[in-house]
Amino acid sequence: MIIGLTGTPGTGKTSVCRILEAHGYRVIHMNELIKSEHLYSEVDKERDTVVADMDRVFSRVCELVGDDSDVTILDSHMAHHIADTVIVLRTAPSELTQRLKARSYSESKVQENVEAECLDVVLVESVEWCQKVYEVDTTGRMAEDVEEDVERIISGVLSGDD
Ligand code: ADP
Ligand code: MN
Repeated sequence: MIIGLTGTPGTGKTSVCRILEAHGYRVIHMNELIKSEHLYSEVDKERDTVVADMDRVFSRVCELVGDDSDVTILDSHMAHHIADTVIVLRTAPSELTQRLKARSYSESKVQENVEAECLDVVLVESVEWCQKVYEVDTTGRMAEDVEEDVERIISGVLSGDD
């Protein structure tokens, strides 16, 4: 079973996933996979990013997960294009701006991502694509607190409670 952890860059997906991994969960960091296995069709130099080849990413993720009945967490702002169940991390625009600036993103990249967060882009796409969508607000909270919420949601999904 795959559960996606999605959200605009800077909402804290990877931070939460590192804690999940320390707690024994299996995580696929999609960015790393796409880069290390060259699962992209283009390099977008202007935006300092790669254009993922989602068909190949999907096949590779399915291959890695196999028929494992344990849960695998997908760490990616595109996880909702692959998983049927997703948790969307959210961050208030002012805090997201601070986090992305601290990460030394360019002005335009900060603006692009903050706008996407304001317009609920990932949430809207998730609701459109996925069967189950959960939302966790990370604003003003430590990654450890957010991770507790995420673990609670995962447990609920696995036990079929909701
Ligand atoms: P993502 O994987 O969603 O792009 P990261 O986990 O890489 O996000 O976090 C982006 C930045 O924000 C990092 O510098 C990280 O230290 C910081 N960060 C992550 N989660 C939180 C949080 N809950 N509160 C404050 N800062 C956070
Ligand atoms: Mn990340």
